[in-house]
Amino acid sequence: MVQRVALVTGAARGIGAATAQRLAADGLAVAVLDLDEAATKSTVEAIIAAGGRAVGIGADVADREQVENAVARVVAELGPPTVLVNNAGVLRDNLIFKMTDDDWDTVLSVHLRGAFLVTRAVQGHMVEAKWGRIVNLSSTSALGNRGQVNYAAAKAGMQGFTKTLAIELGRYGVTANAVAPGFIETAMTAATAARMGIDFETLKKGGAEQTAVKRIGQPEDVAHTISFLASEGAGFVSGQVIYVSGGPQLGVLF
Ligand code: NAP
Repeated sequence: MVQRVALVTGAARGIGAATAQRLAADGLAVAVLDLDEAATKSTVEAIIAAGGRAVGIGADVADREQVENAVARVVAELGPPTVLVNNAGVLRDNLIFKMTDDDWDTVLSVHLRGAFLVTRAVQGHMVEAKWGRIVNLSSTSALGNRGQVNYAAAKAGMQGFTKTLAIELGRYGVTANAVAPGFIETAMTAATAARMGIDFETLKKGGAEQTAVKRIGQPEDVAHTISFLASEGAGFVSGQVIYVSGGPQLGVLF
């Protein structure tokens, strides 16, 4: 069987890097996309060192031309992508009375416009192959979180985007699902601690106490769920949102 090709955005670090490595371990060739191509080196090298196939690509997911060029590179260097993980993300937290136009536009642009542009550029390859898996990163913040009107709106938007993709593309053998992580230990949550003026270890301890499984999540926890949704056997799971948050009560939100 021909090796499947996955494209993971925001894969230089954090959840994206763990997902790229996991999909490579599952046997896929992986395009590791991030803003800065040089920053993708460690993920690409880790995949190659483990015996996998990967290429690093620099692109801003919110820029149509860069996205289209990036997808063309994936096709040329690895083959047509039929697994897509829309993971690239940023935070610009602020209470609404202090939130700037730029805070709003940047977050909506990277998460929603980014996922739209990359999915539009990739979906034709999935339709042609009559097989595809799209996984979008939502968040427990989609349910509402203080200081995050921009991010919560974007992450709730990802859920509607996902369900609509599932309806439109299902007839071509393409599934679309969202994963909604809770508190995952990454540079993003470390930056949140710094912004709040809280020591990261203290924030992590508080997060673990409020979580049913009494720990915070690791990027590999999210990668594991994405691996399932991207797998051959998950073809009857589509349009779903899976919370990867250590329990049903979402006390700590990101
Ligand atoms: P992270 O460590 O900050 O990694 C995000 C990556 O996305 C970074 O490498 C970043 O590059 C890249 N990126 C940002 N803007 C981009 C753009 N315009 N084009 C291409 N790449 C871009 O974040 P993470 O914690 O792994 O989060 C990954 C995803 O999970 C995000 O969608 C996030 O919202 C979601 N999520 C995270 C948590 C959590 O607790 N960590 C919880 C729920 C959902 P730069 O370093 O150059 O900015």
